[in-house]
Amino acid sequence: MKIHEYQAKELLGAYGVNVPSGTVCKTPEEVYEATKAYEKCVIKAQIHSGGRGKGGGVKLASSPEEARGIAEKMIGMQLVTHQTGPEGKLVRKVLVTGAASYEKEFYLSVAADNENENLVIIASAAGGTEIEETAKLHPELIVKEPVSIFGGFRAYQGIGVAKKLGLTGTLQKEFIATLRGMIRLFIEKDCSLVEINPLVTTTDGHILALDAKVNFDDNALMRHPEIAELRDIDEEDPKEARASEFDLNYISLDGNIGCLVNGAGLAMATMDIIKKFGGSPANFLDVGGSATTERVTAAFEILLSDPNVKAIMVNIFGGIMKCDIIAEGVVTAAKKLGMTVPLVVRLEGTNVERGKEILKESGLAIIPAEDMADAARKAVEAAGGAK
Ligand code: GDP
Ligand code: MN
Repeated sequence: MKIHEYQAKELLGAYGVNVPSGTVCKTPEEVYEATKAYEKCVIKAQIHSGGRGKGGGVKLASSPEEARGIAEKMIGMQLVTHQTGPEGKLVRKVLVTGAASYEKEFYLSVAADNENENLVIIASAAGGTEIEETAKLHPELIVKEPVSIFGGFRAYQGIGVAKKLGLTGTLQKEFIATLRGMIRLFIEKDCSLVEINPLVTTTDGHILALDAKVNFDDNALMRHPEIAELRDIDEEDPKEARASEFDLNYISLDGNIGCLVNGAGLAMATMDIIKKFGGSPANFLDVGGSATTERVTAAFEILLSDPNVKAIMVNIFGGIMKCDIIAEGVVTAAKKLGMTVPLVVRLEGTNVERGKEILKESGLAIIPAEDMADAARKAVEAAGGAK
């Protein structure tokens, strides 16, 4: 799960990281009021994507009037960054903070190091908006330090990283405290990433987090109801949000064949075989082992709400789940929703004969398939042919 910058800064602040105080605003008037307190301020679009600075989502203002003018343009815009895709993301709120004057920008993050089953500190003295380029072109400028999730973070490790970044004295002390807070947050709240970019040294000699990004492990959210509350459904793909209500594993893709499958492995294989026949899946969807009529209906609804879907391929292996139950679900859903696109169904497993009968007797224009390859071929054909 992702959260907004203002939420991430609040959390980091609670863990002892120095963050600028700010106000979240939803209207230009609120921005006008909030910026009266500052001589110079920064207005930052709150969306769940990075790269806002380059996309026009971070602006400096020298007066409340100027800030209001910026907010009038920013609130309500579709902000396009290299992380949002070409359609961009709607800006619903902005964060207003006093503008900090700083000397240097650093990159600092704590991430899960899956390969070593540990945490890793990633840092660079070349922080700021160009960090991705730096990582690609000058990997030698990136410092990595493994941290044991059980052994914890040791002061000498912090000193080592700080020295490599050229930080000494008070700055070094504050840097280590920042790092300690980030690691404690990461472990206590089951994060998957805690990132500050840029972390800056201010002109008056302190360490300050100008930006913040914190991601959480979804599977651990049940342990942190206070974190789960920070979720902002507006920022999620509406189809994915709806799917999670029904416990469906759904991921939006950019093809035109909607897939309804039980089991993650079979769902992967289905996507592969669609590709093999020259088609392109519109989604990954695993309805799981306990697909009730309700869930099958919800799954269909989600697939049909995607205007890109030109055909649907149902690929079910009836094991624990019986084929006749699935067939009934498919028929009920198709009748209820009024199927508007061709529907190819491949069933295999327990009670398959009864399942096929139910589909045939339904009177719906369902295209039956013998096996996976047959189904994929028919679905690609129905969606307009191979590309
Ligand atoms: P991102 O582009 O989405 O990562 O947004 P950031 O919060 O990192 O902001 C982008 C850039 O705006 C930063 O790298 C800074 O150079 C600049 N910026 C952000 N906040 C301030 C501030 O308080 N003062 C100044 N002078 N620049 C800022
Ligand atoms: Mn940033």
